Amino acid sequence: PVFNEEENLPKLAARLTTAIAALPFDDYEIIFVDDVSSDATPSLLPSFHESDSHIRVIRFSRNFGHQAALQAGMDESRGDALVFMDADLQDPPEVIADFVAQWRAGYEIVYAVRKKRKENVFKRASYKVFYRSLQAVANIDVPLEAGDFCLMDRRVVNALKALPERNRFLRGLRSWIGFAQIGVEYERQARLAGTPKYTLGKLLGLALSGYIGFSALPLRVASALGTLSALAGLGLMV
Ligand code: UDP
Ligand code: MG
Repeated sequence: PVFNEEENLPKLAARLTTAIAALPFDDYEIIFVDDVSSDATPSLLPSFHESDSHIRVIRFSRNFGHQAALQAGMDESRGDALVFMDADLQDPPEVIADFVAQWRAGYEIVYAVRKKRKENVFKRASYKVFYRSLQAVANIDVPLEAGDFCLMDRRVVNALKALPERNRFLRGLRSWIGFAQIGVEYERQARLAGTPKYTLGKLLGLALSGYIGFSALPLRVASALGTLSALAGLGLMV
């Protein structure tokens, strides 16, 4: 997923290519999904593709957000395994080697678990509240401190693609879907350059799709409020 990451893209492509070259694969593809950037991203990405045919580019028709970009990349992917990663180098490409080692050992989902967050106090606190509260209310076990950065086997990808959900909270679905899963610890880096592209509104939207997708609590709260207001209405009429 790429949204206005012009400063990060050249370094990302270089580090990614080097990291993948060290892996025991015959072939690979790198899919950039441009979520309709307004900086130099739309001209940079096609030039990457021209100089390296491993690189593929998708451009959305409008800004659909990070989760939709991950989904689109997944839909287009053709490999035996797939890695989700952000474009700001917060997810170090070198960690892919650790993912692959666990995949080779038989795990079908290998997700990265943050040891330390190099982000501001407010963001760290918000994430903490979000993950802990989701774990408290959700009827699935979403691993604490696990983001979207992960490797998934083709079998998992096909299963995820077959789900009917439209508004996706991918790390929740990944946890819910089963298969042999393991977490790998890593140190999440600060974004290399630029400002975070997740606005507060987008973050809240993500949190909401987590709560709504995986817990009956919002529905229960809505029904309870509905019942209460109906009772209150009756009370007023009497
Ligand atoms: N991103 C995107 N669409 C958006 C917002 C973000 O594709 O509407 C991308 C962004 O370019 C980055 C990734 O999603 O590659 C994560 O965004 P960001 O780094 O801003 O989020 P944070 O790491 O601060 O949670
Ligand atoms: Mg980031």
